[in-house]
Amino acid sequence: MTRIGIIGAGQLGQMLGIAGKNLDLEFVFLDPSPDPPAAIVGPVLRKPFDDIEGLRQLAGETDIVTYEFENVPVEAIEEIATDTPVYPPPDALRFAQDRLCEKRLFESLQIPVAPYRTVESATDLVGAAKDIGLPLVLKTRRLGYDGKGQTIVRDETGIAGAIATLGGSNLIAEKLIPFDREVSAIGVRNVRGDIAMYPLIENQHCNGILDCSTAPVDLNGLTRLASLYLGKMLSHFDYVGVLTIEFFVVGESLLANEYAPRVHNSGHWTIEGAATSQFENHLRALLDLPLGDVSPVGHSAMLNLIGTMPSPAVELGSNIAWLHDYGKAPRPGRKLGHITVVADSPAVRTREIDRIRALLIE
Ligand code: ADP
Ligand code: MG
Repeated sequence: MTRIGIIGAGQLGQMLGIAGKNLDLEFVFLDPSPDPPAAIVGPVLRKPFDDIEGLRQLAGETDIVTYEFENVPVEAIEEIATDTPVYPPPDALRFAQDRLCEKRLFESLQIPVAPYRTVESATDLVGAAKDIGLPLVLKTRRLGYDGKGQTIVRDETGIAGAIATLGGSNLIAEKLIPFDREVSAIGVRNVRGDIAMYPLIENQHCNGILDCSTAPVDLNGLTRLASLYLGKMLSHFDYVGVLTIEFFVVGESLLANEYAPRVHNSGHWTIEGAATSQFENHLRALLDLPLGDVSPVGHSAMLNLIGTMPSPAVELGSNIAWLHDYGKAPRPGRKLGHITVVADSPAVRTREIDRIRALLIE
């Protein structure tokens, strides 16, 4: 039986573990948290992500190592990669960890991005505001997620406060894009180089956190562009596994916002809503199996459950909706679970999501 080591034992690890049951796989995780969601699908080595001995132990006990968490020191991963295959390639992780490297990479592959400037001081931010205009978004280059580590600068009076909030250096200022919508493209590539891309997904964020994803979205020209950009990234890294790119849609064009070298929250609908889930396809890619069919099986939506779970008394009362509970302790802003709807038409999907949102407020 093949054993997969996963760095990170959060909900993504949990869903990978559940998908792996169909493929006859065993999992070992590495995560320092006391009660991680993935503990229900395999043993967890309770070691910090930068613990090289822990990482070596994980690699020693498994045949292939992957990760569901991005803030792992790349040097440590490269060290274990000399003996055990680590997918996606550590280089894909390295560029994703730093917004500046990420943007330069997109540009080098002719993938458009929002205008940006690096910021190492308040003076730089004043200059950036002059060059690219206000409003802009100031972001830390590293460690940001779910809208954390970023702030909007609306006018010049906001500059000092933004610098004070984020620290004066290792920042990037981006033009605040008045986008029409946000979409993500999720693709997968196996060891032998086969590629597949899920239909384009539309994402709605609330306070910087993903609230709702719908797929497929009917944006044909954009699907072609997204698949071109995704293909460039996958080939560039000789990539193995699932890769997600988040885009802003502006008219007929796509601006790449960021990418994630892993399974992604905007792809959770694929568990019930696609012939093969992103989780199963990530594993199939690592094992160099033929990729599973990425076709949608209906019109899906995924609603994130953030901060609180529905009370146990709430019944979804539907055979087209599924509740996923990650088993995490509630905390404001924390992703605790999600609900997926798979409907026959976009209209039924909207009605069902509205009905469920109303149930959750009660
Ligand atoms: P995170 O790592 O937190 O997901 P993102 O860069 O994706 O960071 O930002 C989170 C959300 O904030 C985006 O999905 C988008 O809604 C909004 N946002 C970020 N940057 C910009 C921008 N330059 N213009 C407009 N909206 C932005
Ligand atoms: Mg994002």
